[in-house]
Amino acid sequence: MTGIRTIGVIGAGQMGNGIAHVCALAGFDVVLNDVSAERLEAGIKTIRRNMDRQVHREMITDEQRDIGMGRINAVTTLDAFCEVDFCIEAATEKEAVKRAIFDSVCLKLPKTAMLATNTSSISITRLGASTDRPERFIGLHFMNPVPLMKLVEVIRGLATDQQTYEAAVHIVERLHKRVTNAEDFPAFIVNRVLMPMINEAVYTLYEGVGTVESIDTAMKLGANHPMGPLELADFIGLDTCLSIMQVLHDGLADTKYRPCPLLVKYVEAGWVGKKAGRGFYDYRGETPVPTR
Ligand code: NAD
Repeated sequence: MTGIRTIGVIGAGQMGNGIAHVCALAGFDVVLNDVSAERLEAGIKTIRRNMDRQVHREMITDEQRDIGMGRINAVTTLDAFCEVDFCIEAATEKEAVKRAIFDSVCLKLPKTAMLATNTSSISITRLGASTDRPERFIGLHFMNPVPLMKLVEVIRGLATDQQTYEAAVHIVERLHKRVTNAEDFPAFIVNRVLMPMINEAVYTLYEGVGTVESIDTAMKLGANHPMGPLELADFIGLDTCLSIMQVLHDGLADTKYRPCPLLVKYVEAGWVGKKAGRGFYDYRGETPVPTR
């Protein structure tokens, strides 16, 4: 499986820029797309900052950073995707957004190119069926932050063929990450377990059982979690958390997955976490301050 040279990444947000970063350092050429030059610029800046940090920690050399950065081609149109062997979509967690992207990118990708989605929760089989290549479509669920986290969930849709699965595993291994296989059920493994815990933490806040600080401290010191659940929710993005809970609620039709109304309210306010400057904490000052 040496045929993959160029990886296309759609979405230069938290996940997309991380995926572009690790692919470039692993020696792939990368084509990175987002909706605007500003978004792309922000993504490239983040990659540069994170690679500088790796140089500082002596994880990579100056030369590796420069070669890696030089492998990333940031583009506002999908034209360059005609050169892509394997495309990874990491855009906003909305099915309509992802479907529209697949419609456009499939027109550009070579017929033989494989297409993966980094969705946290949406059915791989359904997304794949909406494309012209369900057999070459797969779920590759990276964890946040991508350069640090070791796991990638690999999810085959009903139609995914063995060659596509093997190509996906080959890429994950070249990125020095571990594969875990998950079946195509709502939110797969990690988020099926993690998101109801985060949603329950928001209910705990909503019902006044604890404050933002006491809930996070309780889970850090009481359950030995490295981050509190509300801090983690801010880090993931409250919009993404809400979308995943909605997929679990709709897909499994069980009221235990009902998104907490307070989570909905934060998303409606645009306080979607760290990326927006505000969520359960306010990140605009020197140190994060709880917003409740
Ligand atoms: P984000 O909001 O940081 O980034 C999404 C990016 O997609 C934005 O830059 C946006 O401009 C771009 N985008 C939207 N529509 C587009 C289009 N039509 N074409 C090109 N780009 C477009 O979100 P994120 O946290 O990076 O999440 C991206 C995906 O990764 C989602 O599917 C999410 O569920 C998944 N994911 C997120 C996490 C996490 O912890 N945040 C973890 C694993 C997977």
